[in-house]
Amino acid sequence: MPKIVVIGSYVVDLMSRAPHLPKPGETVLGGPFKMGPGGKGGNQATAAVRCGSNVTFVTRLGDDVFGREALEHFRRERVNTQYIKHDKDEATGAALISVDQQSENSIVVALGACGKISEGDVLEAEAEIKEADIVLLQLETSIEAVVASVRLSAKHGVPVILNPAPFQKFSKEILKDVSYITPNETEAHELTGVEVIDEHSALIAAKKLYELGVKNVIITLGKQGAFLYTGGEKGKLIPGFTVDAIDTTGAGDAFNGGFAHAVASGKSITDAMIFGNCVAALSVTKIGTAPAMPIKTEIDEFLK
Ligand code: ATP
Repeated sequence: MPKIVVIGSYVVDLMSRAPHLPKPGETVLGGPFKMGPGGKGGNQATAAVRCGSNVTFVTRLGDDVFGREALEHFRRERVNTQYIKHDKDEATGAALISVDQQSENSIVVALGACGKISEGDVLEAEAEIKEADIVLLQLETSIEAVVASVRLSAKHGVPVILNPAPFQKFSKEILKDVSYITPNETEAHELTGVEVIDEHSALIAAKKLYELGVKNVIITLGKQGAFLYTGGEKGKLIPGFTVDAIDTTGAGDAFNGGFAHAVASGKSITDAMIFGNCVAALSVTKIGTAPAMPIKTEIDEFLK
């Protein structure tokens, strides 16, 4: 079984539909209300474990009802929860999501406990990181934790996938120790200053990231698929799968969890991207983030 360590955020998604998004000062009566596990780290861990990887998740939860529910979710999914800490001072992270009739959304994410993942938390998981085939990171936590994770992985020669989402500033110096970077169009723009709208602009942005030291640059392009650049003149687009999309939230997380599983299984980058595209395509056919991640049998059936 491929072994993956995911270090990052857990937040509970608290979602309500409303006739329109509230203006400042306005209260809108909405409904129905939906609650479920989320956060980029938690979503990616769920996606990878459902693909069939052995996944350890390093995060922090609050000592509250949302934290206890999160732990139950990860135990049910058979994620290794040994390095999930309970923070006495912070609440479990929460995403307050409003969605209008056109599926436009506005989201406030209160990271709470998972914003406090420390270098010490990462070092405690050294035994797992050392044995991992892949370490999977996002930017939805403290940069201290991200930097510590990259350094520790490099020390043990373990490849790192950095999904730089949501974008926050960090020292580009760590990129030389990142094997794969997986921004979406917006994050690629924020990282490079290049507005990514198509394959041509993706290539220009990807070259900039490559020059910063990442040998495998993957820019996800929504339903178009994902663009790969590994040096030289050209890159290539790995096309997405055509499905009836009903909720694209968490598509990036599904891609990253699926891609990590496939790379850790020894697939080539191109095949791993096809696999990531497949996991992501299946995820957008369901509502929600972590609960929408497909299981192995669904993926095998789809790829038949
Ligand atoms: P999100 O923020 O919604 O989680 P993202 O912006 O991080 O997503 P995208 O680039 O939109 O990431 O999508 C990630 C991957 O999901 C794409 O590379 C593609 O494989 C898949 N995908 C996204 N939207 C669709 C769609 N409508 N149909 C099929 N596949 C999709």
